[in-house]
Amino acid sequence: MERVAVEDVEPIAPPDGNVPPGATAGSVGNVRQLTRALGTTDLSINYYELAPGESFTVSVHRHDTHEEVFYVLSGTVTFETETETGDVTLGAGDVLRVPPDTFQLGTNQGDERATAITLGAPREYQAETEWLVECEACGERTVHVVEGTEDGSAFVYRCTECDSETYRFSA
Ligand SMILES: [Zn+2]
Repeated sequence: MERVAVEDVEPIAPPDGNVPPGATAGSVGNVRQLTRALGTTDLSINYYELAPGESFTVSVHRHDTHEEVFYVLSGTVTFETETETGDVTLGAGDVLRVPPDTFQLGTNQGDERATAITLGAPREYQAETEWLVECEACGERTVHVVEGTEDGSAFVYRCTECDSETYRFSA
């Protein structure tokens, strides 16, 4: 068995430069990667701290086989979904299941800090993630994939409608 104290796991956050201008999120919150700390094999688990205005990740996205559960511990988190459910706001103690293949993004739209645990399975899914990001060429928000460049120096957002590169950030 592995035991960790959440407060002992170093919080990390991607630089705001990793967030495309046409993304839904303005800024991404801190994550404590419990998956790594615990060495889980089948489940991903993370602890998030979102300041007001911060989101779990850079934009509305979906994972084709990855099921996710969000458990809000404090504050409120509002999920933008592309489903008929519309936006869903969770308060402390609320739990939300997002099925695979469902576009969503959770953002702290409140004025106090929010904390949440996220669970996902299966654990490996990054290659299957698709992002809704504004594409200038298409003139609308379209489905993007993120690819590493051949030399490994950068990541590129590519529009799956017109194949153009819409944003690039350093690896
Ligand atoms: Zn496009």
